[in-house]
Amino acid sequence: MGSIKVLSEQLASQIAAGEVVERPSSVVKELVENALDAGARSVNVDIRGGGRQLIQVADDGAGIPADDVATAFLRHATSKLNSAEDLSAIGTLGFRGEALAAIAAVSQVTLISRPADTQKGVRLLLEGGKIKSRETAGAPQGTVIAVENLFYNMPARLKFLKSVTREKRLIDEYVTRYALAYPHVRFRLTHDGRITFQSSGAGGLMDVLTAVHGPETARQLLPIAGGEEDEPAASPTAIRVSGYVGPPSLHWSSRNHITLFVNRRWIKDSQLTYAVIQAYHTLLPAGRYPLAIIFVEMPFAEVDVNVHPAKTEVRFRDANAVFGAIQRAARRALLEHSPVRGLTQFASGETGEYAGWGGRLERGAFSQRDEHSEQGDLALNWQTPAAAPGDEPEKAGRPILAGGQLPIMRLVGQVGAAYIITEGPDGLFLIDQHAAHERILYEQFLAQWEADGQMAAQGLVAGEAVQFSPSQTSLLEEHLALLGQLGFEIEPFGPNSFMIRSIPALLAKLEPARALAAVVEELENESKPLQEEIEAQIIRRVCKSGAVKAGQTLSASEMEAMIRQLEQCQNPHTCPHGRPTMIHLSVTQLAREFGRI
Ligand code: ADP
Ligand code: MG
Repeated sequence: MGSIKVLSEQLASQIAAGEVVERPSSVVKELVENALDAGARSVNVDIRGGGRQLIQVADDGAGIPADDVATAFLRHATSKLNSAEDLSAIGTLGFRGEALAAIAAVSQVTLISRPADTQKGVRLLLEGGKIKSRETAGAPQGTVIAVENLFYNMPARLKFLKSVTREKRLIDEYVTRYALAYPHVRFRLTHDGRITFQSSGAGGLMDVLTAVHGPETARQLLPIAGGEEDEPAASPTAIRVSGYVGPPSLHWSSRNHITLFVNRRWIKDSQLTYAVIQAYHTLLPAGRYPLAIIFVEMPFAEVDVNVHPAKTEVRFRDANAVFGAIQRAARRALLEHSPVRGLTQFASGETGEYAGWGGRLERGAFSQRDEHSEQGDLALNWQTPAAAPGDEPEKAGRPILAGGQLPIMRLVGQVGAAYIITEGPDGLFLIDQHAAHERILYEQFLAQWEADGQMAAQGLVAGEAVQFSPSQTSLLEEHLALLGQLGFEIEPFGPNSFMIRSIPALLAKLEPARALAAVVEELENESKPLQEEIEAQIIRRVCKSGAVKAGQTLSASEMEAMIRQLEQCQNPHTCPHGRPTMIHLSVTQLAREFGRI
């Protein structure tokens, strides 16, 4: 170690720049934020070489007065903050006065800007943060900033950049996010001269969603009505939630499709992301995540955006309130709109990673091998041709029924000892007997659990001894109390053995050892140690093992009873693990299949 000395200004600003400008996409983000703060109605982003060669952002906003252009590139220079008081209620995207300085420190920048009220604009050239030239120049109103050779003076940073394709994708993500948050602003993005994204600026969020996600996905999105009824709008702490959530049939293996904005600022927040995931509770298969675009509007003073130089993390004065508002709003949207799955959705040849439950099926084949067809594939193979081109997309996304409600259904019969066929007011329904029964048990369980915190138990006359491995034994011992509440009374009975004294009454038909084995398996799977989650998972699991299996012939009265119980369910359309309980084949579809229309 040498003696202590103050870093050169150059080095100090490079170090500071590192926090703001991590990679090309962060430059894009900062420049676009500046354009939006300047009131731009149109923002053009041009990229070359994934942003390493060139990032240019041109706007038609307020422009920078000639006297201010040099100042704008100083560290901590901003026109957006005046006092410490302003800091507690920030309404602009920028406020730290760091971005231009940071960007200029690690690249070669050309700025051209002209405010509306001046004839001539100014052109400024900087290299490594130093002004190289400055001249008056004719320019359209607004600001153009071109950033060339990013990190040319920071070889260490250059080395860590990912592939050009990856940097391009990150840039696309930022631009599309801002396009979503500002539908009134026209965005255009080019990579190496080719337009890859544009929005109309006409003001409709749906327009932008269509531009971002494509018409097929956009059409299926469910609007969030708005959270006004949660708290009166006049309340100073009112939180309003709007946006769209995807139907449960659209899901991905990562959480990246959940996009959150707070006061039109895109934020990263794992808690709030989880609020969205929670709203899909039991509607999605395990390990799958939904699509959602959520806007939270709240008083500026209720949220602190000054957490990190990148400004994508925020702190809330009342984080629980925000969590709850998002979760309720999303859940409500889902329940209001969630459709019974129509047959054509299985058959419409959806591609890509989404396509939900149908995604892994061959087109139209019902012989899905999954946890519901425990007897193996059933020889049931209804082929439905894909919708004809130009066909109205009527069936694909249209809710056949509002969520939470089933029509009156008449029992027709059972097929393949696995599916119940019923007739409803508009065609026929195929009900997966296992999935449906799972849902029924689950809701009965939950109702009792929530009302009493204790499940009714069915005592075993003789008790039943079961043996487990040492690790399973310690898992069971750890959760004895919870299991007791769930209706499983078990007592240690010699080394690694237990005596089952009772099982939940709802599972009375189940073999006690099997029921307990299912619980143990669930405990072993458990990765999240949240008590609440464990309860829910165990309950789902025992319902699954308690439900009638595919391959079990049911009497007419058993099927009738199941249909009536399913009608009682709050959420009859999916099993607790998120698979559909029924498929609808409408009269129109039948007519189409038979060539009547
Ligand atoms: P901040 O956005 O936090 O204020 P920046 O370093 O990003 O800090 O920008 C510094 C200042 O330069 C801004 O406060 C603003 O006055 C001005 N500025 C930057 N970009 C633009 C733009 N595109 N249009 C108008 N003014 C801009
Ligand atoms: Mg800024």
